[in-house]
Amino acid sequence: MNKVRVFLSLGSNLGERIDYLTQAVFKLKRVENIQLVQTSAVYETEPVGYKAQNHFLNIVVELNTTFTVRQLFRATQNIENSLGRQRFEKWGPRTIDIDILFYNAQVISSTDLTVPHPEFKNRMFVLKPLSEIAAEYVPPLHSDTIYVLYKKCNDKSAVNPFMNSKTFLQLVK
Ligand code: AMP
Repeated sequence: MNKVRVFLSLGSNLGERIDYLTQAVFKLKRVENIQLVQTSAVYETEPVGYKAQNHFLNIVVELNTTFTVRQLFRATQNIENSLGRQRFEKWGPRTIDIDILFYNAQVISSTDLTVPHPEFKNRMFVLKPLSEIAAEYVPPLHSDTIYVLYKKCNDKSAVNPFMNSKTFLQLVK
């Protein structure tokens, strides 16, 4: 089976946020059908939506996988569950959130899974790290590159560098 190019967005705003991101990427790397290609830097970001909560740490990662999108979704949900993710409220605090941004050129619109992720181009905490690792990528259903979408994005919430990718990858090893 051919390998598929995938981008995920990960975020944490509860407890030891960097540990949750590190463990999530470590667990992704250890899945037999997943190869980690690259990660962005880690950013500290203002919460979108429900504001009275901790700031998030966010990262974007590129993977190659032989999983179908459903198998990948199951794997990301398993990792969320294993890291004790609890759903208190939509937009609320979470130990770890893993979103599938893109799965090759596939377009999926089902009750539990929408790919490309419907909010990616409205969120600076996705576009800033993504433009760092895939500026020239043109997502499915779009004609602009990630860099152009980043420049066009109206989200003004703060997205500040927290840790560079090299340091993060050393934690993941
Ligand atoms: P959230 O609370 O924002 O993390 O939303 C989680 C829910 O979003 C999950 O239960 C998924 O069923 C749904 N979902 C829809 N599309 C996606 C996607 N592309 N990646 C991850 N979760 C998704």
